[in-house]
Amino acid sequence: MRTVLAMVLLLLGGALLGRAVLGADEPAPRAHIAVRGIYGGVPATLMEKGRTLSGEGVNAVWIGERGITKERVAALKAQGAKVFAEFNTVHRAEYLKKHPSAAPVGLDGKRAAAPHGWQGICPTHAEYRTWRMQAFRDLLAQHEIDGVWLDYHHAHASWERAEPALPDTCFCERCLAQFRKETKTRGADSPEAMAAFLAKKESGERKAWIAWRCGVFTDWVREFRAILDATRPKALLGTFHCPWTAEERDGALEAKLAIDLRAQKPYIDVFSPMPYHARFGHARDPAWISRQTAWLGRHLGLQGRPDERTKIWPIVQVSDWGEAVDVAQIPAVLDHGTRAPATGVLVFRWGALRKEPQKVSALTRFYRAIAR
Ligand SMILES: [Zn+2]
Repeated sequence: MRTVLAMVLLLLGGALLGRAVLGADEPAPRAHIAVRGIYGGVPATLMEKGRTLSGEGVNAVWIGERGITKERVAALKAQGAKVFAEFNTVHRAEYLKKHPSAAPVGLDGKRAAAPHGWQGICPTHAEYRTWRMQAFRDLLAQHEIDGVWLDYHHAHASWERAEPALPDTCFCERCLAQFRKETKTRGADSPEAMAAFLAKKESGERKAWIAWRCGVFTDWVREFRAILDATRPKALLGTFHCPWTAEERDGALEAKLAIDLRAQKPYIDVFSPMPYHARFGHARDPAWISRQTAWLGRHLGLQGRPDERTKIWPIVQVSDWGEAVDVAQIPAVLDHGTRAPATGVLVFRWGALRKEPQKVSALTRFYRAIAR
C-alpha cells in the first residue's frame, strides 16, 4: 500500500513539474497533428507587420468558394499555408427563385418551410445537380487549391443549434418516382402514403426510404470525387458534417439528414465533423468535442495513424455564435479538438475572431506550442 501511495505521489509530482516547466496552459507538441487551420477568410492580421502564418503556427486556411481568388491563394501559399475551399452543395437557396420545382416538399405535399431560415434543395433535381457539379469542376480547374470541403451536404434541415428542426422531406413527384423505380416499394406514390410508412418505425418501407435517400446524397459525393480526380487529382475532398453519432436523436444522422458516413468514406479524404460545443448545448463541456471525434473514429474504423488514407480533422468553435466561448476555454477546446483520432484541426471562424485579438493570441499560442 505504501509503495502504491509513493508511486502515486511520484507520478503526481512528475506531472506537476512537467506543467510547471511548460507553463500552466502550455500544451506539449502533438506530432500527430499535421494541420492547424483557420476557417472563414484570409487571416490578414497574422500576415502583417513582420508576422507570418507559419510563424503563428497556422498552416491551413479555409475560404468559401465565392471568396477564392488567385491573389488570395497565392498570398496564402507564399506564407506556407494550404488553401482549401468550402463548397455549398444543396443550400444555394437563390436557385429556387427561377426554379421553384427544386424546393423540398414535406409530408403534407406542400413546399417545406425553411427551418430557422435554412433552405435546402431537392436532391434529385437534375438541373440543380448539374449546375453544382459544374461549379465544383470550375473551382478546381481555375484555382490551385489544395482541396475542397463539401458544406451543407444533407437533407433540408436546421441542425446547427442545441435544439434542431428536422422535417421529413422530399416527397416531390420526382423523388417519389425515383424511389419507387429504384427500390420497387409498392404504394409509395403520394406524400400521404409515405407519411403512413414513416409513422411505423420498423416498417420495411421506412428502412428502404432512409437507405435510398442516404444513397442519393452519397451518389453526389461519388460524383464530386470523380470530378476532383479528373480535374485536380492531388487535391483533397473533405466534408463538413453534423457531429452527432449515428445513434443520437433516434438515428437522425441517417434517418433525417441522409448522411451515411460509412458509405461516403471511400470517396472522402478528410471528415471534418463540426462539434461546436457552445452552440450545440455543451458550453461547459469541451470534452464533448473529443467524445464525438472518438465516436467518429470508431464508426469509420480510424485511429489517426499516419498510414490511414482517410483523416479526421474536426472544426471546433472558438468564436461566439449563439453562445459565447470564453477566451480562457480556448486551450481546452483545442486540446479536445486535437486528440486522436484527429490528425488535424481547424477553428470556426476568422470573420468573428479577427475582432477578438485575445482569442487570436490564445489560438496561435496553442498552435505554436503543439507545432514544436
Ligand atoms: Zn424531391
